[in-house]
This record gives sequence, structure tokens and C-alpha cells, in this order.
Amino acid sequence: MRILVTNDDGIFSPGIKALARAMAELGEVIVVAPDIEQSAVGHGITIRRPLRFKHTASAGLEPIPAYRVDGTPADCVVLGAHLKGPFDLVVSGINLGVNLGLDITSSGTVAGAMEGVSLGIPSVAVSLDTVHMEELDFTYAAQAAQTVVRWVIEHGLPEKVLLNVNVPAERPRGFRVVGLVDRYYQDQVVEREDPAGVPYYWIAGEPIEESKAGTDLWAVRNGYVALTPINLDFTDSELVPTLKKDLEGA
Ligand code: MN
Repeated sequence: MRILVTNDDGIFSPGIKALARAMAELGEVIVVAPDIEQSAVGHGITIRRPLRFKHTASAGLEPIPAYRVDGTPADCVVLGAHLKGPFDLVVSGINLGVNLGLDITSSGTVAGAMEGVSLGIPSVAVSLDTVHMEELDFTYAAQAAQTVVRWVIEHGLPEKVLLNVNVPAERPRGFRVVGLVDRYYQDQVVEREDPAGVPYYWIAGEPIEESKAGTDLWAVRNGYVALTPINLDFTDSELVPTLKKDLEGA
């Protein structure tokens, strides 16, 4: 079992150390991660400049081999699979902060798993609700990752499907298999002025705390590990017949 571990918080994040060590109990792990934080870069792939792939002992993961890339999480998976593959699994995380609802479309953590799926490799994304940034504890998130990845090793995943795992900050009450919440962040644009008096804008977001039962947000807020299968076939099959009827031959 060869497992590619990546993230979007960067190769020096404590989250990837915890994940790599947890995965090393399940197989042969190779870490390929961005050299600096790449949160919220989504599924971007670097195509207009060259990339470097550097062995990084200072990641502190020895004896697990670790490599850093000056690119996005998706770049890391592409290069990792090309240079160190083949892999049986891609596991991305443990992200500092949840990736709920449509955040998965901007999340670099989830994009690492998306790239794994697009390469035909079963993939899992793991994020931790880090309300206490000063006292990070990856124990439960690492255990949850092991539980989910053991299941994937045993059962596999359908093509085009990844698992998105969000772990609460406190000891979890168990797993809940849930759907994506509609919104997690209420986007806000904050306008300020630079020292020259020229306005600049900061896209900020207020997390939404409440959600109806059955969503990933509800599960995490109620102390459960939220487990959501994500299908990367974005085609809306329901609208296809209507569009065909109305627009094909129009
Ligand atoms: Mn991140």
C-alpha cells in the first residue's frame, strides 16, 4: 500500500506531520507538499512556470521521505505521482480548519484529493476544526483519518469519488455520513485604505454556525466526524433532457 500524503498548509505544517505518521501505520508513505501555505488556492495547476521538487529533511518526518514543491497541492499530486508513483491512495491534510459545504471548491486540501481522483487514485481529504489554534491536537483527526483510510483500503472507492472528512475540535462522538451544507462562509468585503490613502479590499468571511441536521456543518458542530462522499462528475443529469429538447437543433 503506497500512500501519497499532501496538504495545502505547507510541508512544515504540524497537520501533515500528524497525518503522515498516522498513514505510515497503514502503508509506505511519501510526503509531497507545497513549500509555503497554499490554502484556498483551489484546484489550480501551475502551467506558466517551471516547478522544483526538493527532498526536505527539515520537514522533520524522517524516516518518511518528504519533498516540497513551489506550487499548489494539485501540482504536488501531479509531480508526486509522476516522480514517486504509482500510488494506491492520496490523503490530503490534516488541514488547520474545516472544509465544509462549497468551500471544497476553493479548498487546496480538497483539491489535493481531487487531483488524486482525476489521476484515478482513491483519495481522502482530512480537515480539523481548529477553534483552539494555540493548543492544536491532531490525535482524534489522525485516528479518524486512519479509520476512514482503512475502510478505503478494504472497500475501495467508486471512480470520480473522494471522501471529505471534517473532524471536530473535541473528542468526536462518532462518525456521521452527511451532505454538504449550502454555505459555510458569508463572504464579506472589507474596504480599508493603504498609507497613501488608496483603497484596498480584503475578502473576509464570517463562518455560519447553524445548520439543519444532516449536513457536514451540523455534524462537526455537534461533535461528530463529518464524512461526505464527493462525486467529481459535475454534470447535472436532471437538466440534460430539458436542455437537449430545447437547445439541441435550436
Ligand atoms: Mn489550509
